[in-house]
Amino acid sequence: MTDTQGGGPFGDMPADEFRKHGHAMVEWIARFMETAERYPVLARVSPGDIRRALPESAPESAEQFEAIMADFDRILMPGMTHWNHPGFMAYFSITASAPGVLADFVASALNQQAMLWRTSPSATELEAVVMGWLRQLIGLPDGFEGVIYDTASISSLHAIAAAREAAVPDVRTLGLPGRADVPRLRVYCSDQAHSSIEKGVILAGLGQQGLRKIPSDENFRMRPDALRAAIAEDRAAGVLPIAAVATVGTTSTTSVDPVADIADICAAERIWLHVDSAYAGVTAMLPEHAHILAGADRADSLVVNPHKWLFTPFDLSAFFCRRMEVVRQAFALVPDYLTTADAARNLMDTGIQLGRRFRSLKLWMILRYFGAEGVRERLRYHITLAQELAAWIDADPDFERLAPAPFSVVCFRAKPAGRDWTEAELTRLNEAILKRVNDTGEIFISHTVLGGRFTLRVAIGNLQTTDRHVRRAWELIQQALADEMR
Ligand code: PLP
Repeated sequence: MTDTQGGGPFGDMPADEFRKHGHAMVEWIARFMETAERYPVLARVSPGDIRRALPESAPESAEQFEAIMADFDRILMPGMTHWNHPGFMAYFSITASAPGVLADFVASALNQQAMLWRTSPSATELEAVVMGWLRQLIGLPDGFEGVIYDTASISSLHAIAAAREAAVPDVRTLGLPGRADVPRLRVYCSDQAHSSIEKGVILAGLGQQGLRKIPSDENFRMRPDALRAAIAEDRAAGVLPIAAVATVGTTSTTSVDPVADIADICAAERIWLHVDSAYAGVTAMLPEHAHILAGADRADSLVVNPHKWLFTPFDLSAFFCRRMEVVRQAFALVPDYLTTADAARNLMDTGIQLGRRFRSLKLWMILRYFGAEGVRERLRYHITLAQELAAWIDADPDFERLAPAPFSVVCFRAKPAGRDWTEAELTRLNEAILKRVNDTGEIFISHTVLGGRFTLRVAIGNLQTTDRHVRRAWELIQQALADEMR
């Protein structure tokens, strides 16, 4: 048996072997990044294919790393949908940038777990520093403290839990069930808000009826007058409003709720304001887009996801809170075995999870590698590409745009000129176009439904996506329509 890394006969992979496979792995990754385009962007497998190709039980005997990698290439690679492909234009297009990939590599090796300051002083303090950088870049005032969670869903869940903590006396000790002193609680968001808000409300024990979806206007923005009326109606019925969620960059159309108006209402009603800017918040770094967060300085909390449009490998969600003491009041719980006398903040106090990955490292490396100016240029480029596509769609009589495109997502559908279409026919036509386009393997786009209309949705946001890819996407979409009309 070979000697292992300082572990005697039963330790880890030997250092030399690690070095060999590590170099080969870096080579594999570099080649993948250079040539991602040769893969079909959407996996071409059927449900169950991958599972059937894999043994049902773990191997009893050790296997060679070469054999493991060979199976990885042969079995798993065909089942990958390539989010890091320049033709990935579905949902929100994202990038695992090279500096972020390298950071994750070393973060895994170091295996830092910053539950307490002492279990990783560097990870704890780097998180504070990097969140400070991001806060400044998007123009939030320094009263906001930042903490990193995995996803926006979890960030928003913490915001809702904090709102409940602030609104309901002793909820931490007494909970909600069976309390005569607590009326029904209500959270508000627009009918365009992300489903994670509803999940958060469910998990906070408010029930789905604890969320009231406020109608949005013709451009998919929450109507403040409707929010004001809903709160008044609820109060008159004995319901206690506790929070409103404003979305900056909604999932379907990237519309921007009027945050300042909603902030006025929340201040007057003394309820928590959470801003979900998971996708679009980063564009507040651009002077021409900074207005999207106007009023967010008065929010109680805000989420922005570097793993969406800040080139950060999944996952990293940045949660900023002006009242982090309320989050701590809700979640800090220190068992005997975790007490310390360190005069420092412990990240386990600001959330539900104890163990946490060293996520700040990748954001630190990304912000340093590209620099704020480099990030701004890249965001601007994606926005420009999307605006070009929107202009081509607008100029084509056989297509119509179904929402404004303030950032890098374009919503539209085919509606060939020269005849009357029923909604059902248009849905069938656009579903067929979507399938044809995605079957090419060159691009992957997704859909949504806007006001009952089946909508095609192209999202730009991968660092490798260029003008050529967007032109090609438009060609494929036009070609798919031509094929359908044949
Ligand atoms: N909020 C908005 C506006 C989103 O668009 C999304 C996902 O697309 C989320 C929240 C949830 O993000 P996550 O996957 O980080 O939970």
